[in-house]
Amino acid sequence: MREFEFIKQIKKNIKYENPDIIKGIGDDCAIINFNKSKEKYLIITSDSLFENVHFNKDYFKPWEIGARSMAVNVSDICAMGGIPLYALVNIGYPGYIKQSYIDNMFNGINDFGGNYGVEIIGGDTISAGKIFLSITLIGEVEKGRILRRDAACAGDSIFITGTLGDSYAGFRILANKKNQRELSDTDYLLIKKHILPTPRYVEGRLLAESGLLNSCIDVSDGIISDITRISEESNLGAEIYAQMMPISTSTYITAKKLKNDPIDYALYGGEDYELLFTVNLKNKNILIKFADENNIDITEIGKITARKGIYVVKNGNKKKENYKKVWKHF
Ligand code: ADP
Ligand code: MG
Repeated sequence: MREFEFIKQIKKNIKYENPDIIKGIGDDCAIINFNKSKEKYLIITSDSLFENVHFNKDYFKPWEIGARSMAVNVSDICAMGGIPLYALVNIGYPGYIKQSYIDNMFNGINDFGGNYGVEIIGGDTISAGKIFLSITLIGEVEKGRILRRDAACAGDSIFITGTLGDSYAGFRILANKKNQRELSDTDYLLIKKHILPTPRYVEGRLLAESGLLNSCIDVSDGIISDITRISEESNLGAEIYAQMMPISTSTYITAKKLKNDPIDYALYGGEDYELLFTVNLKNKNILIKFADENNIDITEIGKITARKGIYVVKNGNKKKENYKKVWKHF
């Protein structure tokens, strides 16, 4: 949680003078009232990958490292309901890395971004002790459609797209690889989900267009961590129903094989890049119908509460979350 505390601290110390900064630090993207446009906001995000922290050269091909770094940035634009447009790409690497390796990494960035209409407009290349990639992605969103973290309301139902825990299951299979003789097709599927997540672009646009959501975030650090961000930004709390977690059969089997609780993978795993969002109770059934008609897979997993703090309900017991199991790089 060190990163979390650091961000809180810098947020406290920064006061914005320019009223065109609609939101600075604190959401998936910054929101800028650009050129006083009546219709749209500019949204800007930045995410970095560092060798041996976010990826390992033994498990990731260079193209995949590039594609992944673009994917996590596109996901932040999707979490605001926006459209990604332009990218600045900063790359650092040691001199002993082959040029073809770096070329493949850059192709991963360009190819993956191209699928979402992203055009690379610049960046920087430097020599560094380990490989790192940092992308700044600029997008746009209609003012009336923007999805923010800080707009949840007490009583809102909490929903998630897709399934949770697959990326963490894939990570565990990779970490456990040397103990296993052969990997199954489902193992490879989970590994693929870990290596290259799919940003929920169509889902984000449709959900934003529906006008039914109060708040939204993409799941990078696990739903417990990410619902904490929505709750804190909205000055509220939340209850999460552990037994409602959407868990794929493959993840369930993987967790059981490793003698872990599959629900823990879903709650704390992270890096699934699904959309976690909240909806006013009166819109809940309209949303469920909307999602069904538009083939968006969603599951209700909790509710926003006026009481602060995150509470997890499991087997009829309600316990305050103590963040001991939250996945962390620090
Ligand atoms: P996400 O997981 O969606 O990428 P982060 O947790 O990385 O979001 O960041 C939360 C917020 O803190 C964002 O608004 C981000 O821009 C801001 N932030 C993170 N690190 C820094 C930093 N070093 N300086 C300024 N703002 C930062
Ligand atoms: Mg995010």
